[in-house]
Amino acid sequence: MRIVVVGGGIAGLAAAYRLKDRAEVILLEASGRVGGVIRTRIQGDYLMEAGPDAFIDKGTVLQLCRELGLEQQLIRTSQAYRRSFMVRGRRLLPVPEGLYLMAPSALGPFLRSPIVSPLGKARMLLDLVARRRAAPDESLASFVRRRLGQEALDRLAQPLLGGIYAADPERLSLAATMPQFLDMERRHGSVVRALLTARRSTGPGTSGARYALFHSFGEGMEILVSALRAALPDVRLNTAVQGLDRVEGGWRVRFGNSSEGGDAELVADGVCLCVPPAAAASWLPGLPLPAAPRSSVVTVNLGFREEQVRHPLNGAGFVVPHSEGRSIIACSFSSRKFEGRSQPGHVLLRAFVGGMLGRRHYEIDDEQLVANVLNDLDELLDVDGPPEEVWLNRLPDSMPQYEVGHLDRMAALETALERLPGLALAGNSYRGVGIPDCIASGFAAADRLLGAPIPGSP
Ligand SMILES: Cc1cc2nc3c(=O)[nH]c(=O)nc-3n(C[C@H](O)[C@H](O)[C@H](O)COP(=O)(O)OP(=O)(O)OC[C@H]3O[C@@H](n4cnc5c(N)ncnc54)[C@H](O)[C@@H]3O)c2cc1C
Repeated sequence: MRIVVVGGGIAGLAAAYRLKDRAEVILLEASGRVGGVIRTRIQGDYLMEAGPDAFIDKGTVLQLCRELGLEQQLIRTSQAYRRSFMVRGRRLLPVPEGLYLMAPSALGPFLRSPIVSPLGKARMLLDLVARRRAAPDESLASFVRRRLGQEALDRLAQPLLGGIYAADPERLSLAATMPQFLDMERRHGSVVRALLTARRSTGPGTSGARYALFHSFGEGMEILVSALRAALPDVRLNTAVQGLDRVEGGWRVRFGNSSEGGDAELVADGVCLCVPPAAAASWLPGLPLPAAPRSSVVTVNLGFREEQVRHPLNGAGFVVPHSEGRSIIACSFSSRKFEGRSQPGHVLLRAFVGGMLGRRHYEIDDEQLVANVLNDLDELLDVDGPPEEVWLNRLPDSMPQYEVGHLDRMAALETALERLPGLALAGNSYRGVGIPDCIASGFAAADRLLGAPIPGSP
């Protein structure tokens, strides 16, 4: 059986890896490298990431790392820095211990924290008595406003939860992104009560508890995609797929090769599309692919000599509520979060700009964008003088937006796919944006292709 995988991001690599021993697999990637948004650069005194810098221990991701011989490379977030900050005015306030994305699991630290005003806190605690509503799907903003109030949305949920998706909380589907909150409401009648109860049964956690789940690699995230690529027999770079036709017994994939010139095609029993849906939509008209606009982000890695930054950087980073009106939406203290990201005596910061709510900050030119970031960092971290290293990466349309109704659309898409044997989809557009989700989607797509009957095949 021959299967063509289109797109060499982590989803496509995972799909091809799963298929390689059971089919002839050919991976076609439009750009000159595999990995998609995963990219590491080691330069000067710094190890910098363009896209993801970590992944959560979920599903089979650690097993895959072991299979690839990467076990020795695995590192965890530095224990001493497992906490984060929230910007308010020109100050970085610690996210209170026990806060879980939008609500507290411990009342003491939450009540003492100045992140939310006394009135805001009182409104949040009304969640303990507010009536529940059986909404089939609703936006993050609607849910948080209804249960916890506007301030909890502006100060906590938008930057902490919306920030993960670089999303507009008014449009983000809670059911598709954080269904556990709907479950808390359904089962306990209150998000706060559910969190307090869970904490009582599991014992005290810390706001850093989630950080303990994050892993990376000593040599950076790109080592994962390099190891996957090395395990694959046929990876064709600079090969942009341009069309797809059903033919007897399978599919014809048409593509252009930008380095060799000219167009070509391959006929395969199965095709696994691991590209953003906008690319595939014209090849498969009539298939109800997700059509929501994706958000664009810029990451700016900035290396400084340690003495240039007066803030102690005593955490993993900070997030910025949209209402603060800054160009930065978040910033990692990369060399605190993971060891080995800078040489001793240097620190590496990584700022994020853009997202659905920060489009105007994304759209300005690189020079001005870096100047704005430095201005924000100076006000918040008291930075002295220019950075000694800057690496800016634009990641256009990189973050899918799971808007309200996303799960219904997925169900319709999956029904439609049943009528198209030999075709599978994977990647961050469908059922999870994190690296473990994308790997799982690649594996599931591969399994579908191996198990699905191919029309016209013996
Ligand atoms: C800034 C940022 C930070 C993130 N941080 C984290 C994190 O810390 N942890 C985490 O778990 N996740 C994180 N994510 C999410 C995660 O990295 C992505 O969701 C995931 O890597 C996407 O993988 P993918 O294979 O679906 O898509 P992509 O990486 O976008 O890959 C798609 C590939 O398809 C190729 N392609 C497109 N069109 C064609 C065509 N016509 N023919 C052939 N090839 C084509 C592209 O060139 C690309 O290589 C982050 C994402 C971003 C943008």
